[in-house]
Amino acid sequence: MSFGVSYVLHLVLLFFMMFIAAWSQDDVVMQKLKSSITSSSNDLDWSDKDCCKWKGVSCSGTTVTEINLGQLNIQGSLPKELMQLTALTRFDCSENEFSGGFPYMPNSLQNLYIRNNSFTSMPSDFFTNMSNLIEVVIDSNPFSQWQIPSSLKNCLALKLFSANSAGLVGVIPEFFGNDTFPSLTDLKVSFNSLGGNLPNSLSGSSIENLWVNNQNGNKLNGTLSVLQNMTSLKVIWVQSNAFTGPIPDFSNHDQLSEVSFRDNQLTGVVPQSLISLQSLKAVALTNNRLQGSPPKFKDDVKVDNDMDKGINSFCTKVVGQPCSPLVNALLSVVEPFGYPLKLAQSWQGNDPCQGGWLGIVCSSGNISVIAFEKMGFSGSISSSFASLSSVTKLLLDNNHLTGTIPKELASMPALKELDVSNNALYGQIPSFRGDVVVKTGGNPDIGKDKPPGSPGSSSGGEYKKKISVGAIVGIVMGIVCLLGVVGVLVFVMRGRRHNKCAGKVQTPNAIVVHPRHSGDGNGVKISVAAAGSSSVGVARGTGGFSPSSSVRNVEAGNMVISIQVLREVTNNFSEKNILGKGGFATVYKGELDDGTKIAVKRMKSEMVGDEGLNEIKSEIAVLTRVRHRHLVALHGYCLDDNEKLLVFEYMPQGTLSQHIFDWKDDGSKPLGWKCRLSIALDVARGVEYLHGLAQQIFIHRDLKPSNILLGDDMRAKVADFGLVRLAPEGQTSFATRLAGTFGYLAPEYAVTGRVTTKVDVYSYGVILMEMITGRKVIENSQSDENIHLVTWFRRMLLNKDSFEKVIDPAMDIDEEGLESFRTMAGLASQCCAREPHQRPDMGHVVNVLAPLVEIWKPAEPEADDMYGIDLDISFPQGLSKWPNLEGTSNTLDVSKSSSMAAGCEYTQSSIPPRSPGFANSFTSADAR
Ligand code: AMP
Repeated sequence: MSFGVSYVLHLVLLFFMMFIAAWSQDDVVMQKLKSSITSSSNDLDWSDKDCCKWKGVSCSGTTVTEINLGQLNIQGSLPKELMQLTALTRFDCSENEFSGGFPYMPNSLQNLYIRNNSFTSMPSDFFTNMSNLIEVVIDSNPFSQWQIPSSLKNCLALKLFSANSAGLVGVIPEFFGNDTFPSLTDLKVSFNSLGGNLPNSLSGSSIENLWVNNQNGNKLNGTLSVLQNMTSLKVIWVQSNAFTGPIPDFSNHDQLSEVSFRDNQLTGVVPQSLISLQSLKAVALTNNRLQGSPPKFKDDVKVDNDMDKGINSFCTKVVGQPCSPLVNALLSVVEPFGYPLKLAQSWQGNDPCQGGWLGIVCSSGNISVIAFEKMGFSGSISSSFASLSSVTKLLLDNNHLTGTIPKELASMPALKELDVSNNALYGQIPSFRGDVVVKTGGNPDIGKDKPPGSPGSSSGGEYKKKISVGAIVGIVMGIVCLLGVVGVLVFVMRGRRHNKCAGKVQTPNAIVVHPRHSGDGNGVKISVAAAGSSSVGVARGTGGFSPSSSVRNVEAGNMVISIQVLREVTNNFSEKNILGKGGFATVYKGELDDGTKIAVKRMKSEMVGDEGLNEIKSEIAVLTRVRHRHLVALHGYCLDDNEKLLVFEYMPQGTLSQHIFDWKDDGSKPLGWKCRLSIALDVARGVEYLHGLAQQIFIHRDLKPSNILLGDDMRAKVADFGLVRLAPEGQTSFATRLAGTFGYLAPEYAVTGRVTTKVDVYSYGVILMEMITGRKVIENSQSDENIHLVTWFRRMLLNKDSFEKVIDPAMDIDEEGLESFRTMAGLASQCCAREPHQRPDMGHVVNVLAPLVEIWKPAEPEADDMYGIDLDISFPQGLSKWPNLEGTSNTLDVSKSSSMAAGCEYTQSSIPPRSPGFANSFTSADAR
């Protein structure tokens, strides 16, 4: 039998074994489920021997992928064995009578729907390993009291979290927002007992539907100000809580259609931005303490603003009728105080002198005294007080007022007394007329130009404490800013230097184009059982570009970039800017105003909403969590309805695959041996970091030369994190859907579907073999027994005579090189050992390769390396990783001091940018 046929049969056998194993396990679990439930519905026909034929059960082959049991009058409980359905992506048992505790589910699960049942609890750490969850709907279950668990943070791909009437207590945690959940559109936690404020993390989030209404007992409180920065909102339900303060500004909300504020304690004037909002269809305001004129919304807006109940504090019952000028003046006076509730409760009607207006004293129909002393007000003193021309006494003492005394107050014609004592005011006292008594005692910073807390301000009494804290904060901020400035300077210098280097080889306007379908140059990318694959980890906003203005503004904490900006920098995704195409995306080159180049990975539209979307989310998750000089850095992303884009650092020398396989077509020269060694070490370092130095174990699953990118300095970085899996905590081996690229797949992964870091070590070994031989992993042009590089390579190595015949003939290799070749060839063979335990770990690989790589030392330390700042990543990313530098490696990091790949036999200036011609001239004349 020829080798080719036996190879194919071997593969078929492996898959067959895999399916048999999966079938028997899933079948046992499904039988267990069957025995633990009963249904009074005739619809639930589970009589067939084959569970894949049961009502509501979907399989891929014999593996259970979905269980859909909604509304089938089912009673019973769920067995804990469900966790063993390792390919289950959807579980729906909504609207039945399931009882007992809800069990753990497999980490493959993407959609969970269990609403309207009688489950009594969920494991508190249920979400810990559920990194693939996209939709979670657990409403209306009599769960015993529990808090929104912090482990939910691991569900990076979360789009919908719905836990209405779900026994929740505690607060809405600070992690709801774009940094953790870039795709979250629905947050629904109504009818629970949540207290506290709306968290600030919601600011800037992409949440469209926010339901936090009707909290019982404990109620949500504080202001609604964060809503102002949630501009994706379509529906806001915050009714029946204890929110205070004014309705925020909605000028930037163009999709908001439904808002319910009713049954809170909101005060102040309904903002014009809400009244005139074009998208608004329904608004509920009843039972608050809203003030000013009752708003007149557009005719097609359904308004719940029950005037007859008179519970709001509008100045009139006639919709749209303006308030008296005096009322308007008083409202603008208390606006900076946040429209205090006690005033809103007492200020009724349209005439402040009709009696009963708290803090207002009138004489002869005019306001004579404003008595706001000891009211607990905070905020600043409004200059609008000056419009109250009849006021003789303005008493604002014993509050928490900040800011300065507005100079307009000095022109109040009837004023006789101003008392602002015992507040936190600063600044010069305006010059009042001689007959005005001005009391300013108890404001430690009054008379000083600087606000409290700034250097030179007060240092007495209670302020001493505040100021010393302020000073410490100031010093810390100062140091951070100073370092920031240093970082920015270095970043800018680097940008300049890059431009200068690039300038030698390309004109500023020349766009480097690599029009090739390079996606999987080697082998066929596979993804078994609808590999929705993986979204892992937690995204932390750790840097990137400002979404609002232009990409030139680097802003820490925000990685979202607008589509407009990305269009602008890629010439509207021009064909000319295409760098390459992968399975799910096209990658474009972009150039920022300052000359910085970026690579914009744009998901193919037909893939949006498909498995490709999961890949893209997985990349975001991984790359916002792991940072290393040998992992390609993510600068930002854009995930809106129609476009899914990732923005990476630009790697001008393209993929390793192009350099080892396609150099001839590109009219270039092959990579020298030392350069290959150096690239091998770079990749090993990147993978070593993924495997554990990043605190958690990330497994790449798709290492191959087309996923290794090269910079102008020929330093290599690992890319394409779409298939990366995060090992569940405490586990080094776990089951997952099969995905990767034929030829690079470790045999045990193909058979069992279980991955360990050794799966990557195998693929890495294949890459080493490809770099040594210049041969692709599978070459159909070869004789049957030589098709698979690994088998051929290992056989060749066994024979002393053929040992050196594996060396890429395109490469000259000297005696010294032969020695390192022997080491690297042996290492490659070890990495591809059949048994995972026979393969080394990446730390060992790094230790073996590091001494082989010539260390290139610059004459003087480079500015880049001062402060250990990695300039291959954006400044905010640098800041974010700063306290947590990669240097926890137990291996010697010789790469840190080199800027050019050690041993690459050319100088940087000799490397032209890759272009369709790809005419690099790596001649020995260029050698250093
Ligand atoms: P991918 O979709 O990640 O497989 O990328 C497709 C192709 O785009 C790659 O094979 C490269 O040729 C190119 N490419 C991807 N990322 C970058 C980058 N950061 N810089 C330059 N080229 C890139």
